[in-house]
Amino acid sequence: MDHDDLRHWSKRAADWAHDYHEGLRDRPVRAELTHGKIASQLPDTPPENPESMEAIWDDFTRIVPPGITHWQHPRFFAYFPANASPASMLAEQLANAIAAQGMIWQTSPAVTEVEQVMMKWLAQAIGLPNEFTGTIHDSATTATLSAVLTMREKALDWTGLQQGLSGAPRLRLYASAQTHSSVDKAARIAGIGQENLVKVPTDSTLSMRPGALAGAIAADRAAGYLPIGVILCAGGTSVGAFDRMADCIGVARAAGLPTHVDAAWAGSAMICPEFRRLWAGVEGADSIVFNPHKWLGAQFDCAVQFLRDPGPQVRTLGLRPSYLETAGREEIVNFNEWTVPLGRRFRALKLWFTLRAYGLEGLRTRIRNHVNWAEEVCAQIALIPGIHIVTPPALSLFTFACDDAARTEHLLARINDDGRIYLTQTRHAGRLVIRMQVGQFDCTRDDVMMAAQVIAELAGK
Ligand code: PLP
Repeated sequence: MDHDDLRHWSKRAADWAHDYHEGLRDRPVRAELTHGKIASQLPDTPPENPESMEAIWDDFTRIVPPGITHWQHPRFFAYFPANASPASMLAEQLANAIAAQGMIWQTSPAVTEVEQVMMKWLAQAIGLPNEFTGTIHDSATTATLSAVLTMREKALDWTGLQQGLSGAPRLRLYASAQTHSSVDKAARIAGIGQENLVKVPTDSTLSMRPGALAGAIAADRAAGYLPIGVILCAGGTSVGAFDRMADCIGVARAAGLPTHVDAAWAGSAMICPEFRRLWAGVEGADSIVFNPHKWLGAQFDCAVQFLRDPGPQVRTLGLRPSYLETAGREEIVNFNEWTVPLGRRFRALKLWFTLRAYGLEGLRTRIRNHVNWAEEVCAQIALIPGIHIVTPPALSLFTFACDDAARTEHLLARINDDGRIYLTQTRHAGRLVIRMQVGQFDCTRDDVMMAAQVIAELAGK
């Protein structure tokens, strides 16, 4: 295959993509789940000789789609969304065509400079003060790991990077039980250890209790531990919990600890000023992550991290071997020094295209619709006999359950085998519940309300 063939097949791919998206409503949302079925259709050994693109294409269209869960399906209400706006897909095509590796400014100034401007735009869009700058990571997990590594090194006065942790005091990190498992992963792989991630109790609003946080930090210090920082939850994965930012950040600051806010899902909603009350006080944080690849339409992967002062993170993650040295001036930013991987994709392009093609107002309208429709469909589901709303909508996420766990499990299985909608489960207060979030980029009110109809139909069986 050469570049002339690429031109031909790119057009075929564009047509296929258009038909795929247009026909999504007619497909079951979730993939057919027969383990090994896809792999069994692929040969055990790689081809020795070139194969025709026709043959490859035919196999793709035959084998792959049945094994895909359609994340862009307008009735995908599972997990959180992984939205891909059409403008974002176009930008990704161009980024793929250019295939630049933007590890340092001089390896493609456009990659770095568009990223710098997009981070400025997004900080303004979600109402952060001017002092925040930031960078793009692949995922919120990587951003949180970067923040935790920075907290660790700051607490150790940057000795951990050189000497390792074996002679260091036992470190402590604090978060609420509502935070995502990416915080547990960061504690594990940053050498802090799961046992030293203190899950601070929450109150009836599902916020970490600031008094309990202060107490835990003081008790740990008295016992000889070294507290390193606090991770705050803005829109937890399970039921959308929010920590009270101002109070918890106040406690962390009084204790001299840095803070990182995980707003992976809910951060996108902060382009709507009326939702910012949910994270009031966030401007006091040192680091904030959210995923435009969840709810904003800049497709996976795209996680943005805002930093009040990038200095500590660059000091933690930055390395400048001679082969990466540049005849740079002071103002040049080499973003690999802000992140874990060296190599960097041109992720800012899809933000640029998405923000321009829909405008903040267009994106706000989508998110406001999702929140309103979630409330509406939740009210309808509440009327179905035998079903109880367990947690009311937090933005566009709510949970419900049947009278007992076995029925809840059975209902969820029926819903997902049916295929018209897709929902997933979580545990809340020890109870199995079904989650529903509204947030797919192209969903309509009818798509959302169909969920109540499907659930009512299947709950009675
Ligand atoms: N934080 C929260 C609140 C999440 O919901 C998720 C994923 O759903 C993550 C972090 C991890 O995101 P990523 O897949 O970008 O690592």
